[in-house]
Amino acid sequence: MKMSKVDLSFQSCKNTYEEADVVIFSVPMDATTSFRPGTRFAGNAIRVDSFGVEWYSPYRERDLNEFKTADIGDLDLPIGAVDDALEIIYQTTKQVLNDGKTPMMVGGEHLVSYPVIKAVFEKYPNLHIIHLDAHTDLRTSFFGRDLSHATFMRHVHKFVGDGKIFQFGIRSGEKPEFDWAKAGHVTMRKFDFEGLDKVVEHLKNVPVYITIDLDVLDPAVFPGTGTPEPGGMQYKDLLWAFDQFEKLNHLVAADFVELAPMLDPSGASTAVAAKTLREMVLILHKNLEKQSR
Ligand code: MN
Ligand code: MN
Repeated sequence: MKMSKVDLSFQSCKNTYEEADVVIFSVPMDATTSFRPGTRFAGNAIRVDSFGVEWYSPYRERDLNEFKTADIGDLDLPIGAVDDALEIIYQTTKQVLNDGKTPMMVGGEHLVSYPVIKAVFEKYPNLHIIHLDAHTDLRTSFFGRDLSHATFMRHVHKFVGDGKIFQFGIRSGEKPEFDWAKAGHVTMRKFDFEGLDKVVEHLKNVPVYITIDLDVLDPAVFPGTGTPEPGGMQYKDLLWAFDQFEKLNHLVAADFVELAPMLDPSGASTAVAAKTLREMVLILHKNLEKQSR
């Protein structure tokens, strides 16, 4: 597995690729970002800021050094060549899965989740998706392009089908997107995370992918993102969501996306993302323990 050109890694995740159970990779792409770009810098901003993150999580009551995690860095992507970049992301995810490891992807704009989910779906055809986001991401096309960060979940639906996508925190989109959701193609909870615990109970034993667009958080908590939407969730709400995720028995991969670190000079947004990475990596490891039991 090729290492990044930048020799940086998330502080507590220094195992080799060969020995790791969970593999972190970041995707420096913001090519279809509709408003303010900058998510391509997220991965390495989080790596630098990981110096300030404890390896122990009081929430999960586990330490990252109890587990084997590799961070293979930013993928090398051809700048501006969206189709080629998506293919590289897809092939990387395939490789990680074929090697029997769990992918933890860090975006990037939300379109980068599309090839990851596609590869995970090919391994787990009964894949269900939990999607936290301020935005529907259900347009059929955007500025004449099928694939963009505003459309990607609509295109994921094309292969996973009805009843497999569960969205929470949604508060922005076009009327036809909300109508399409209401018609039963996806399960959409507007504005907050209510019912997430019941969905987790429902999905307990099926393969689940979690994708977190961090703009689901309120801009007061997470201003470092391209399309901020007021009226969002608090970090404590996200911690509650993590507690729910931990109850899943077959979590097969996860990602979070849409940190644009330079849009928040305070660094608070990057800290939110770094802590999210720690929590999600621990949740993935704890899930693997359950599966091996
Ligand atoms: Mn999104
Ligand atoms: Mn969003």
